[in-house]
Amino acid sequence: MYNEIEKTREILLNTKKLTVLSGAGISAESGIPTFRGADGLWQKYNVTQLATPEAFKKDPKLVWDFYNWRRGLISKAKCNLAHKALVKLEQKISDFCLITQNIDDLHRKAGNKNIIELHGNIWWIRCTKCDFLKEDRRIPLPFPPLCPKCQSLLRPHVVWFGEALDPDILALAIKEIKTTEILLVVGTSATVQPAASLIWIAKENGAFLIEVNSEPSEATPIMDISLRGKAGEILPQLCE
Ligand code: NAD
Ligand code: ZN
Repeated sequence: MYNEIEKTREILLNTKKLTVLSGAGISAESGIPTFRGADGLWQKYNVTQLATPEAFKKDPKLVWDFYNWRRGLISKAKCNLAHKALVKLEQKISDFCLITQNIDDLHRKAGNKNIIELHGNIWWIRCTKCDFLKEDRRIPLPFPPLCPKCQSLLRPHVVWFGEALDPDILALAIKEIKTTEILLVVGTSATVQPAASLIWIAKENGAFLIEVNSEPSEATPIMDISLRGKAGEILPQLCE
């Protein structure tokens, strides 16, 4: 493992263009549960069935309760050593881009600048009918949160299971992915599409692939280097 880390650090710090793809696992050590981990459940509900447009249509109160609970959790969470290591990497590498599937805002809080949020941001809310969109950090949001412009119900500005990503944001991510020398994949199971497909697009375009994950992921078979362990322990060693 030691040699593997040395080798990876050498490769990383000598690149001109690095792209990082992060997932829920990078925030696990900050106390934010992943969706597929052992505590990937909220009360008695399956999160992958709750974070959907169907659930919101059927029971907006239940879905807002879930998001208010997550907002409470995330508001208390601190960035961990893995988030901080990515800030160091951004400072060291001239062409750096961080693509995240996370909605928790912890990369920004840590100090990363060039961030692409594929799945939105939990602190932003938008109208279900018109183009109203704003940042709102109240916890909990009074229910029902209503649009000041058209009085329709407001929803979290996040991408739910079964929804399309913002095409402009996805295009931006693909552009970075296609031109990157190295893709560093951290804490993602590589099961949520189209985010996971970015890894395969990078591979097709000749990128060198490095994974940091406590367990094997769907993308492990195509990795050039897989580092097994906690992101908060491995990433700091990669940017010393
Ligand atoms: P996932 O829950 O499917 O997978 C988490 C991955 O992280 C797993 O492969 C697991 O082995 C790994 N992992 C767990 N702890 C780790 C650690 N300490 N160090 C390194 N790896 C660790 O997450 P996903 O692939 O991001 O997909 C879930 C979807 O739900 C995404 O859209 C994600 O944005 C969203 N989500 C976001 C948050 C958040 O914003 N923090 C939390 C839960 C889910
Ligand atoms: Zn509106």
